[in-house]
Amino acid sequence: RIDTVPAPAPVARAPRAVPAVAGAGLRVPLVTGGTREYANLDHAASAPCLAEVRRAVDEFLPWYASVHRGAGFASQVSTRVHERSRDIVARFLGARRGDTVVFTRNTTDALTLLARSVPRHTAVVQFDTEHHAALLPWRGPHVRRIATPSTRSGAIAALDAALADCPEGPRLVVVTGASNVTGEVLPVAEFAAVARRHGARIALDGAQLAPHRPISLRELDVDYVAISGHKLYAPFGAGALAGRADWLRAAPPYLAGGGASRSVAADGERVTVAWNDGPERHEGGSPNTVGVYALGVACAELERHAGAVAAHEDELLARLRRGLAGVPGLHTLRLFADDPAVADVVGTVSFVIEGHDPGRVAAALSAEYGIGVRDGAFCAHIATRRLVGRTGTGGAKALRASIGLGTTTEHVDRLVTALRRLVTGGE
Ligand code: PLP
Repeated sequence: RIDTVPAPAPVARAPRAVPAVAGAGLRVPLVTGGTREYANLDHAASAPCLAEVRRAVDEFLPWYASVHRGAGFASQVSTRVHERSRDIVARFLGARRGDTVVFTRNTTDALTLLARSVPRHTAVVQFDTEHHAALLPWRGPHVRRIATPSTRSGAIAALDAALADCPEGPRLVVVTGASNVTGEVLPVAEFAAVARRHGARIALDGAQLAPHRPISLRELDVDYVAISGHKLYAPFGAGALAGRADWLRAAPPYLAGGGASRSVAADGERVTVAWNDGPERHEGGSPNTVGVYALGVACAELERHAGAVAAHEDELLARLRRGLAGVPGLHTLRLFADDPAVADVVGTVSFVIEGHDPGRVAAALSAEYGIGVRDGAFCAHIATRRLVGRTGTGGAKALRASIGLGTTTEHVDRLVTALRRLVTGGE
């Protein structure tokens, strides 16, 4: 079975249960000296590995060998695994004919690759509340940042106006699919339609959307999407940039070296290079085929279980939101604060609690209850500072609870009970 990564074809009847995660049942130490089953409510940072990914990787590990440049059987297996994983990721992301998938380390790497591949003087338009991975690769006078409006329709209109204002030449909109701070889903298809009207391309930071919702380049009509394996229930070290091939084919290799080059010759003291045209152009050096395989298996599993994943998460998210709403002094952060409260949201909720430092609350949740949440500004400092500011509670940081396939109703209830106790002093 080792030379065949799981086929991504949809099954006749979708599985009703969600795929198991490898970390289920892990116990963590408590300050009392005992241990407790870990309640991982930090899926938005990194999701636990799926049990199926762990099994598949374990099976593959003894086999990995040189990819694309070895005649031995193990090299053939590795090359096939690498390329089949590319097909699976392409399918998972709804790639069109002619689109390419370049394997990267993560979303940051994928968006940086895109930033280095756009034609000179490309005007970049984006909202200022993006994750730093999407915000920081773009610098210079051609970058236009829009203060994110408080409604989705306002955001669409603001993007329209910003693009109308752009000078002639290539234009690129860079936008996230779901906020890593608030979990709110952005109106990507509408943004894409606006971009098209102005002859602009659009790149989607899919890091937070892909683990929860199907993403399709074709259906959303976006040009690029970037994802991270470790948010998709595979281990660290593999991600992807998928989308239009032309700019990537014309760009200098991301890493110059073996794999990126097709042929190298000496011309006196000069070296002449013919670079590869395909995705290998940007995958210089020995690729992380184990990580790529893990990502492919995870994508196939998520695709197969999409219905069950959505049902599981919707139920848990509703429970979490209901529970948090009953904690005294708790304010939930929202990007689109002037839209109806129950708009489209994936499994992430950030909040502040009046009079309570987020860092201390997070530490207490871990030490006393075995709960893992995130605190701080979530690599989205502009967004977090602004949204915390709007609550009028002071400070610039928040707490974030995020659910996923490793989450149970007990985890959610434990968090809500713990917060109530911390806030009310143990009543
Ligand atoms: N974009 C968003 C919306 C994210 O939430 C993250 C990670 O938290 C990233 C990009 C960056 O992902 P990575 O750290 O895997 O590069």
